[in-house]
Amino acid sequence: MKNEKYSAGDTVAMLCSGCDEETSHSIQTVTKLGKISAAVCDTCQTSSTFKAGVKTGVAAGNAKAAKPYDRAKRYRKGQAMTHPVFGHGEVTAVLELEKIDVLFGDRTRRLIHAQE
Ligand SMILES: [Zn+2]
Repeated sequence: MKNEKYSAGDTVAMLCSGCDEETSHSIQTVTKLGKISAAVCDTCQTSSTFKAGVKTGVAAGNAKAAKPYDRAKRYRKGQAMTHPVFGHGEVTAVLELEKIDVLFGDRTRRLIHAQE
């Protein structure tokens, strides 16, 4: 995570959920630590809020790359997925016997993969 500090009124490029691409945003509010807490897209005026500090383009890109969980697929450590019940997850370990550990939020769950 970068340590840049921002101020209200600054302009920053970030992924816009409205435009679905990186656009210029005007910062509206920042936290005491200089992290963006709310910004508005200059293109579509979509307002984004940030609970856990700055949402970086890289993090947003990873979230976007997450594909629905597919038990027939072979997963590798670090891959992201979305699960119909558990939500967004990331593979934390590949185990023997076609099992993987996937972290969903703050809970790790064991799923199967590479099923023919
Ligand atoms: Zn936008």
